[in-house]
Amino acid sequence: MSQPLIDPFERAISYLRVSVTDRCDFRCVYCMSENMTFLPKKELLTLEELDRLCSTFVRLGVQKLRITGGEPLVRRGIMTYFDAMSRHLESGALKELTLTTNGSQLEKYADDLAACGVKRINISLDTLDEAKFAEITRWGRLPQVIKGIDAAQKAGLRVKINTVALKGFNEDELFPLIDWCASRDMDLTFIEVMPMGDIGNENRLGQYWSLKDMRKTIGERFTMTDLAERTGGPARYIRLEETGQKIGFITPLTHNFCESCNRVRITCTGEIYTCLGQEGKSDLRAPLRAYPDTDFPLEEAIRAAIALKPKGHDFDYSRQELGGQMTRHMSHTGG
Ligand code: SAM
Ligand code: SF4
Repeated sequence: MSQPLIDPFERAISYLRVSVTDRCDFRCVYCMSENMTFLPKKELLTLEELDRLCSTFVRLGVQKLRITGGEPLVRRGIMTYFDAMSRHLESGALKELTLTTNGSQLEKYADDLAACGVKRINISLDTLDEAKFAEITRWGRLPQVIKGIDAAQKAGLRVKINTVALKGFNEDELFPLIDWCASRDMDLTFIEVMPMGDIGNENRLGQYWSLKDMRKTIGERFTMTDLAERTGGPARYIRLEETGQKIGFITPLTHNFCESCNRVRITCTGEIYTCLGQEGKSDLRAPLRAYPDTDFPLEEAIRAAIALKPKGHDFDYSRQELGGQMTRHMSHTGG
C-alpha cells in the first residue's frame, strides 16, 4: 500500500463518503427545493470513474466506504458499481461497504446489495404517519419505504433508521419511533437539522429541535447509559436500559466532534470536500479524466486536498442567526 492519508492535524483518513448522484425520487423539505435543477450527465463521474477514484482511496488506506446521494439507488447501473467495490471487501482492504438511502428502491435492490457484501445500511425515515411522510418528502410514499425496510431485513441487512429531528413536526413521534425500531430490532439515530443549501421558504430556525432537549425527554421514560462507542464522526450513542436499544444523536451544531474526524466526502462530480461544514473543496475529476492510464496524478491531487483539511466547522445557531450557513445542498455532499 502507498503512504496512508494523514491530514495536518494528525488525523488518519480512513472513511470515504461518496455521493453517486445529485438526483432523488423525493424532495425532502430540509434537503431540496421543490424545483431542483440537476446536473447534466456529462458532469457526473461515470461508474468506471467512480470505481477508479474509490479504488485509489482504498489503496491509500480508506477502510470504510459509504455510498450516498441524492438517492444512490436511483443512479442507473449502480449495482455494477457496488459489485465492483465488493472486490475490495474480498481482498480485505475494505472493511465495510455501506450506503445511506431513503429506502424507496430497496425492495428491488436489497438482495443484490447483500450479495455485494453490504452488511448494514442506514435508511432515512422521519415519520411513521403516511400524510406527514408525504408532506416532508413531498414526493415520497411511506408504504414503499416500509416494503423496502422489510426487504432489507429479509435479505439479512442490519438496518439503522436515521431521523431528522424537526421541531413541531416529529416531536410527538419520539416514543412511537423508538418503540417501532425496538419492535423491529433496528437501531435509531436522530440528526439535528443542518443549515445546508437554499431550500425555498422553509424556516430552519423553526425546524431546529435541539437533541439536548430530546435527550431530556427520553430520560423521562428511560434510564440512559452513555456508550463509549465512537465512529470518528458527530454521532454519540446511548443505551436504553429498559429495552437494551441503542440510540444515536448526530449533533454537529451543539457538539464539536472535529478533533476525531476521519472522513472526507466526494461529490458526484468528483469534488472532494474535506469538511462538511466548510466550503473548501478540490477537483479530482480533472486528474482522473486527464490521465486515464495512470492514477499517480489523481493520488497527488488527493494528497494535496487532504493537506488542506481544515481543523473544524463553523456551524452555530446560538445567536439565533445561521452562523456558518452553507450554500450547498446536503444532496450535493450526501450528508
Ligand atoms: N437520499 C438518501 C437519504 O435520504 O438517506 C441519502 C442522501 S441524504 C442527503 C443523507 C442524509 O442527510 C439523510 O438522512 C437526510 O435525512 C439527511 N439530511 C438532508 N438534509 C439535511 C439537513 N439539512 N440537515 C440534517 N440532515 C439532513
Ligand atoms: Fe432525497 Fe435523501 Fe435529500 Fe430526501 S434527504 S431529498 S431522500 S437526498
